[in-house]
Amino acid sequence: MPPPVFRFAPSPNGFLHLGHARSALLNFDLARQSGGRLLLRIEDIDATRCRPEYEQAIYDDLAWLDIVWEQPVRRQSEHLPLYSEAVERLTRDGLLYPAFESRGEIARLVGEKERAGAWPRDPDGAPLYPGTGRTLPDDERDRNLQAATPYALRLDMDAAIARAGPLSWTELGAGPQGETGTVPARPEQWGDVILARKDTPTSYHLSVAIDDALQGVTHVVRGHDLFWATGVHRLLQSLLGLPQPLYRHHALVLDETGRKLSKSTQSTALRELRAGGATPADVRRLVGINLL
Ligand code: GLU
Repeated sequence: MPPPVFRFAPSPNGFLHLGHARSALLNFDLARQSGGRLLLRIEDIDATRCRPEYEQAIYDDLAWLDIVWEQPVRRQSEHLPLYSEAVERLTRDGLLYPAFESRGEIARLVGEKERAGAWPRDPDGAPLYPGTGRTLPDDERDRNLQAATPYALRLDMDAAIARAGPLSWTELGAGPQGETGTVPARPEQWGDVILARKDTPTSYHLSVAIDDALQGVTHVVRGHDLFWATGVHRLLQSLLGLPQPLYRHHALVLDETGRKLSKSTQSTALRELRAGGATPADVRRLVGINLL
């Protein structure tokens, strides 16, 4: 049996905090415990928010925690053509459509829908796409494309689910409500998700599904905040013929008000804790990941 492959996949859009430490330490310990490998992936597709100093801080913080990872590190920004190929394939399969509404227009449409009654929201609390991109007449679509109007490429969720059929994943940990074992994927919770944009040929969901497969990841270990996103990842794995890893979601580290930690809060940033004299053992204790 080849060794299990784990990965830690942070985005360099802020400094790592205790929540990241819990994920990174858990991945590292599980890899060591099982004679497995630990990969590091930098999820830096959002050029407007990612910064080199945050990426460097990831390496510094992980090394300080005595975490050892394999080289080379995969940086998603270096693989955009690969994601484009997947976008082209899904487009050829008739599963993607361009949606030209601006953010402002979407907010206005959601407001209208909400005034007319309840409008569904995704598991992150964002309203589902309310627009008409999927049914836009061909001539209007062509006019927009010729006019170089910005667009998002959205997944036709109903068509994608019809193509893939029912899906599930194996949860070795537990979801926010204790879901464990075989969990039914519910990608419809997310509506017609964005998989790429005119100027960025990918999205979090698409690149995560592709990279986990390409890097041979066998165990995805990450926080509860991504539990329901797994449904979209399973759907993309099915549509693109990619293997499915095992999943293990862990509880988030919460602040004193019970909220998820944010990259903008200084007090829980690993570099601040380090500057304040905390040791890696203190961090392990704070996030409840004790040395094996
Ligand atoms: N890049 C994501 C984040 O920083 C994590 C991706 C994943 O573990 O699937 O939240």
